[in-house]
Amino acid sequence: MNIGVLGAGQLGRMLALAGYPLANRFTFLDTTGHPSAGIGDVMIDTDHKHLEAFLAKVDLVTYEFEHLPVPLVQAIEAEKPVYPSSEAIRVCQNRAEEKALFDRLGIPTPAYRLVDSAEALEAAARELGCPVVAKSVTEGYDGKGQAVLRDPGDAGDAWRSISHPRLIVEAFVDFVREVSIIAVRGRDGDVVFYPMAENVHVDGILRYSLAPMPDLDTAVQDTADGYIRALLDELDYVGVLTLELFQGADGSLLANEMAPRVHNSGHWTMDGAVTSQFENHLRAIQGLPLGDTGARAPTCMVNVIGREGDNAAILKLEDAHLHRYDKSERAGRKLAHINLIAPTHEALLDKVRACAALVPDAPEPRFSFE
Ligand code: AMP
Repeated sequence: MNIGVLGAGQLGRMLALAGYPLANRFTFLDTTGHPSAGIGDVMIDTDHKHLEAFLAKVDLVTYEFEHLPVPLVQAIEAEKPVYPSSEAIRVCQNRAEEKALFDRLGIPTPAYRLVDSAEALEAAARELGCPVVAKSVTEGYDGKGQAVLRDPGDAGDAWRSISHPRLIVEAFVDFVREVSIIAVRGRDGDVVFYPMAENVHVDGILRYSLAPMPDLDTAVQDTADGYIRALLDELDYVGVLTLELFQGADGSLLANEMAPRVHNSGHWTMDGAVTSQFENHLRAIQGLPLGDTGARAPTCMVNVIGREGDNAAILKLEDAHLHRYDKSERAGRKLAHINLIAPTHEALLDKVRACAALVPDAPEPRFSFE
């Protein structure tokens, strides 16, 4: 099976690494001119002339990046199977569509309004009550295209700084922690769920993901499973889907956003789960049985961003697994991650602190259950 991947970054690289044991081959289509996968057959298509050659090589198509033109993905669907479908991309690349789907399926979200002017933004901030978060409806990721309004009078500055014709304005959630649920749906409709992860973001960028959470009520996991199952079934989805949520003090969950792909908050599964998110995505899209999603032991993923750390010292930590993306250093760029595994959460936290000291600019690791 030759798997075509739209995008050629680290997620595609890790898909390929998971697919080689299954004798999969990989062809990447890169439209940025800066592929970093460093593996498989990479076709650079900055002039948009290589799509037919790409499609001629591959048996089916998946992607590692959802900000793709929907008509392009629909055109590909007319020739080869695409998993997840263009409908998943259409919904997930637009925060307004995403929230409308959450509403329709009864998945709770922060209160929100859609606005298309600075005046409407100010009115929405008044109505929802500050602070509020304004986000561009499309094209935002890793906290980009966002602004927090502490006062409705901030609307003019926020509107100019985001510089987008349509924004979603959300009530600021006083969450206890950010969490994500990752699930996989096979071609036959079978669904499996990973244990939820606690995610620590700084300036909108993920720094740590830890799973399983020691204090997670099974009822909360069941609720998250129910939400993501509703999304998977509604979209007739095939592959890995990620749903990011805020958890309140009473355990309640509010959906923030979803990603129709393998996700940074699931990298812990590479070493910490029986079957990684990457392998399960490949199993799903090829119509193979899905693998066990259980955690082997408490695991924490530490992102390496901007500059690489002392890799030799990191590798000296017991049960530490370094995954480098073979990318050059640049501020804000995701370069690698480390999966740390320990028999208990207490031992894991000690190891996370030791590891963070070896990673440049790593924020202090702080988790809700400490
Ligand atoms: P997003 O791009 O929507 O995932 O937002 C990036 C980060 O901003 C999230 O991971 C949160 O830390 C924070 N954030 C986003 N929306 C809200 C909200 N409504 N209330 C509080 N924090 C938020």
